[in-house]
Amino acid sequence: MLSMRCKIRVSASGVHLFDRVSGVNVLLDEVRVPAGQFSRAPRYLSIALTNACELRCFYCYAPKHAAALDRDRVLAWAVELDVAGCLGVGFGGGEPTAYRRFAQLCSEIAQSTSMAVTFTTHGHRLTPELVSSLRGAPVGQCGSRVGHYDGALLRPRSSRHSLR
Ligand code: SF4
Repeated sequence: MLSMRCKIRVSASGVHLFDRVSGVNVLLDEVRVPAGQFSRAPRYLSIALTNACELRCFYCYAPKHAAALDRDRVLAWAVELDVAGCLGVGFGGGEPTAYRRFAQLCSEIAQSTSMAVTFTTHGHRLTPELVSSLRGAPVGQCGSRVGHYDGALLRPRSSRHSLR
């Protein structure tokens, strides 16, 4: 039996049900919602946690100085966005796994909100320890960047990989 705890987001498109554990999305587009009840947050938020990255891809647009966002501020944003109807946060950069205590931040957001937590990475820092920490977070998916993912730690069947 399928068991889900759905988060609900309402917009001009209808009523959006989302389960971060299974990844199921259902849009009830026949439901009309008054504009005054629309969720105030964006459906999904992408955050560049840090500009730091040890690689130098020729097509990269990210500045290479190692600026990083304050973790308490990121957590506070996540809590506020969750209440306002955001369904998920995706971390990028730079290289998000270069962010200090990255797995802990993912875990805190997962526990403090009902949002999905995902990230995009070059994959080189995905040690078994980090993958194990992220499984416990729980982080839904990590996306690999074309050209840098070596497939040694996660099977490269597609450009997105579940950590569960
Ligand atoms: S891995 Fe990403 S952030 Fe790092 S240099 Fe390449 S494109 Fe830029």
